[in-house]
Amino acid sequence: MACIEKIYSVSALVGDGACNANCDFCAGKYLRSEAKSSEENKLYDKNLEAAIKLSARYGGWSLSLTSSGEPTCDPGALTDALKIYNKCAQEGAYFPNVNLFTNGILLGDENFCDKYLDTWRKLGLNNVAVSIHEVDENKQTQIYGIKKYPDFETIVRNVEKHGLGVRGTLLLRKGGVDNHKKYESSVTTLIDKGINNITSWPVGNPDSTRNKYTPSRLGLLGIQAWLHLNAKICHGHVWGGGVFDYHGSILRYTNYVTKHNPKKDFVRQLVVFQDNTVAYSWIKKGALCMK
Ligand code: SF4
Repeated sequence: MACIEKIYSVSALVGDGACNANCDFCAGKYLRSEAKSSEENKLYDKNLEAAIKLSARYGGWSLSLTSSGEPTCDPGALTDALKIYNKCAQEGAYFPNVNLFTNGILLGDENFCDKYLDTWRKLGLNNVAVSIHEVDENKQTQIYGIKKYPDFETIVRNVEKHGLGVRGTLLLRKGGVDNHKKYESSVTTLIDKGINNITSWPVGNPDSTRNKYTPSRLGLLGIQAWLHLNAKICHGHVWGGGVFDYHGSILRYTNYVTKHNPKKDFVRQLVVFQDNTVAYSWIKKGALCMK
């Protein structure tokens, strides 16, 4: 048994779980029954504050705001979560990376961005991480099951206008980006479209097992080998994968979730759920931290 020496980050579910898309492989659905608006969930606020302060004390540097649906569909809840983070930061629990994970649909709307992004940046948000299943916007449209996905260039322009960075979360999915050739052409296209900070992981089940959308092991190995051959490693992650410099762009490869291992001296992330639980992993069983 090891003592915890490091808690790298906090991931918090925010909002009412509504979503403006309809993906076949939605990974958030199983948590949607727990989603509540912030008014009904005061214990959540306490847990979020405690998790941020705990991670910061254990050397954490990153807060991710996500949802069982699409977080931008409940902008008031995002503002509330960022207010809690801002209070923590004023009290010394500061994270240099505060990321909003989003499908990006509403960020194609300049009025939406003008209404919210300055407020969120002032409260501490640094980056918007847009989930990308396909670099062709018409295919994104189909996958998200919507009428029209915005151009990536429009999203980048609308977000950067407010002093925030755009990160691409290029998801590795069978039939989509599932081998090194598609990976190379996808990152090249995204870099051309102005997204030069790209994180990838293979989609899978919330308990970290593979499902029918997970690319083959060979395909994933090919992508990792391509990264090692064509980019310079900047640093590795103790849970697997790492960050690479690819001609001045950042490419990051990681896994979807990491099961908590009490024999290790690190925690990848504290997860703030909306059932008043904080866990050492997305896989709650055997990983409870606060109730
Ligand atoms: S955008 Fe995310 S939350 Fe919405 S349906 Fe797709 S996977 Fe689910």
